[in-house]
Amino acid sequence: MSASRDDGPHDAVVVGSGPNGLAAAVELAREGAKVLVLEGADTIGGGTRTAELTLPGFRHDVCSAAHPMGILSPFFRRLPLAEHGLEWIRPAASIAHPLDDGPAVLLRRSVDATCEELGADGRAWRRIVEPLLDDPHALLEDVLGPLGWPRRPFAFARFGALALWPSTWLARAAFRGERARALWAGCSAHSVLPLSHPATSALGLVFALTAHVEDWPVAKGGSQAITHALASLLASLGGVVRTGWRVGSVDDLPPARVYLFDTDPLQLAAIAGDALPAGYRARLRRFRFGPGVFKLDLALDGPIPWRDPGCLEASTVHVGGSLEEIAASERAAWRGERSERPFLIVVQQSQFDPSRAPVGKHTGYAYCHVPAGSTEDATERIEAQIERFAPGFRDRILARHAAGPAWFENHDPNYVGGAVTGGAADLAQLFTRPVARLDPYSTPNPRIWICSASTPPGGGVHGMCGFHAARRALARMGDLAPVRLR
Ligand SMILES: Cc1cc2nc3c(=O)[nH]c(=O)nc-3n(C[C@H](O)[C@H](O)[C@H](O)COP(=O)(O)OP(=O)(O)OC[C@H]3O[C@@H](n4cnc5c(N)ncnc54)[C@H](O)[C@@H]3O)c2cc1C
Repeated sequence: MSASRDDGPHDAVVVGSGPNGLAAAVELAREGAKVLVLEGADTIGGGTRTAELTLPGFRHDVCSAAHPMGILSPFFRRLPLAEHGLEWIRPAASIAHPLDDGPAVLLRRSVDATCEELGADGRAWRRIVEPLLDDPHALLEDVLGPLGWPRRPFAFARFGALALWPSTWLARAAFRGERARALWAGCSAHSVLPLSHPATSALGLVFALTAHVEDWPVAKGGSQAITHALASLLASLGGVVRTGWRVGSVDDLPPARVYLFDTDPLQLAAIAGDALPAGYRARLRRFRFGPGVFKLDLALDGPIPWRDPGCLEASTVHVGGSLEEIAASERAAWRGERSERPFLIVVQQSQFDPSRAPVGKHTGYAYCHVPAGSTEDATERIEAQIERFAPGFRDRILARHAAGPAWFENHDPNYVGGAVTGGAADLAQLFTRPVARLDPYSTPNPRIWICSASTPPGGGVHGMCGFHAARRALARMGDLAPVRLR
């Protein structure tokens, strides 16, 4: 590590050390900028942290757990993160989707193997994914950024034509059987939108494609390893991180040329105050966040006893049954209603990374989408859904940690109402987050930038929001002297 350079003045101050804040800081420091990161919490990482939430020796990913976007991030792929301790552990399959009747569907890297799982619908699955797998890294570079002229216009146009469809429409038009429809619905439900909304196929497609390019990995030792690798790389470039430094107003900020906010838009408006025009702040305050999450972390006496043991091959299990059931669950969360059979995202880290739990034991990770700010306890409904596909599961629970929207907002103030993807990613906000501007990372004040998941391409641990914001801030930084923000 090189000597620390936090003695000011700074070229750039980044507020928040989530994956986007750290990605922005790394990119700025790589270009020789003197960077200070201010983190309000006592630990760095935002949504990428790991903690013993249940019993000693059980290491739970508090937020992010499976990382298709992390391993495939065009920016992370360029960084020497392995040299800074990051090791991805790949499962045999990305997704398992258990059904009430018959074996679970497994989404594997091999298109052939996946199509076999889907029977007659295998041909339709192949027709959708295969043409987009020619040069997937270039396509992802286009998809994981703000709107602009794509590097791969034909592939991007093909992607866009499918992505714009409501997920339920595409599933019913393309597939005849329950297995492919359910698999598609599970991938699309990561959008946290009603699956009948336009463009919900976008995330379904991204998640299906990533699973054919890489097996959705977990980070060895916990998601915190991603944070530590980014922070270690930043330190080697001379960047400095300060924890326990909650920024509440511009008075809390040291002088700098530019400020990048890894915060939600409401906080940006409140912190910046008169440094941003009232009209722009009003637009930030109109940002919509969407549903929240309710999550269970479990200490388990053994692996989850899935009725189809093939489910243990996948890092992620989509628990929710059919397309219709998953669609109903997501619609309910969006409308502020309770779902009796919520769609769950289950991740099985300890199945692949023995460092997560004591010998012979396992960690359990399951969450569902709930109405924004909901105070209802979904523990019973989550456990019942897993038990439905894994009889005897409850008998394996040694301890549990339950967390609803209020818990998450307290854990990380960016998760407003428990929303975990930086805000609703519907068509109105997908590319125009946080407000509609030619450059969504910029603000009317050339010193102030926003780099959180509330900018394109949105939620997930990929660092691309931070990277794009940093590139734009770098282009303007030279013209600005380091002064206090007022
Ligand atoms: C339950 C859950 C499960 C998830 N699962 C996955 C998954 O499996 N895979 C995946 O890729 N993604 C997942 N995500 C999403 C992912 O964690 C987020 O999209 C990602 O962390 C966003 O990164 P960010 O840097 O924009 O913001 P954050 O990670 O939220 O970081 C923001 C940081 O800024 C700090 N901060 C905020 N305000 C201030 C302030 N005023 N002053 C100082 N510091 C401040 C916060 O404390 C925090 O450290 C999940 C999220 C949750 C909650």
